[in-house]
Amino acid sequence: TAVVGVLALQGDVREHLQALTACGVEAVPVRRECELSELDGIVLPGGESTTMSKLLGVFGLFDPLRTAIGAGLPAYGSCAGMILLASTILDTRPDARHLDALDVTVRRNAFGRQVESFETDLDFTGITGDGEPPLRAVFIRAPWVEAAGPGVQILATVPDGPAAGRIVAVRQRNVLATSFHPEVTGDLRVHRYFVDIVKEGRPS
Ligand code: GLN
Repeated sequence: TAVVGVLALQGDVREHLQALTACGVEAVPVRRECELSELDGIVLPGGESTTMSKLLGVFGLFDPLRTAIGAGLPAYGSCAGMILLASTILDTRPDARHLDALDVTVRRNAFGRQVESFETDLDFTGITGDGEPPLRAVFIRAPWVEAAGPGVQILATVPDGPAAGRIVAVRQRNVLATSFHPEVTGDLRVHRYFVDIVKEGRPS
């Protein structure tokens, strides 16, 4: 059985552990460096990215995690997790650190103050279409991807409304990120998509 960790410093850890367990993998909370070596993949949950960045430093996890993901450990970041994985962040605190694992520019709280949270149905490459229904996406003070490098595959964009066309799901090799929270809908398809990346194994 594949072992998939959920970074458990802050944020909606339990929901991801439940979704991963429902996908048939062994899901474990991760707080210590020594736990990283047991993992076949890791989820960085939603929460508050600047707080999580600080706690990664406090728990001595920042550099080990960056090294592990850089060496090919499959990683999935949702919302604040997407921010942590990005290479460039707009509208963050000057002292916030990020893992630089995904060649994207991410804007924090991008959808604006009035629209703190909303839901929409999305097409998601590799998940929807071909008889598979659209994906319900829940955005909570979400970031969007403002620019993506050439090695980044764009998997989903906002279909309509004021943010139409904004990128909200991406993949680059072993790293997957979504602006939204699939762990709160009961739809396991994004977690299954990530588990498939985990089962493909680490790229050589
Ligand atoms: N706005 C949060 C941040 O900047 C992310 C919100 C979330 O993860 N739901 O970290």
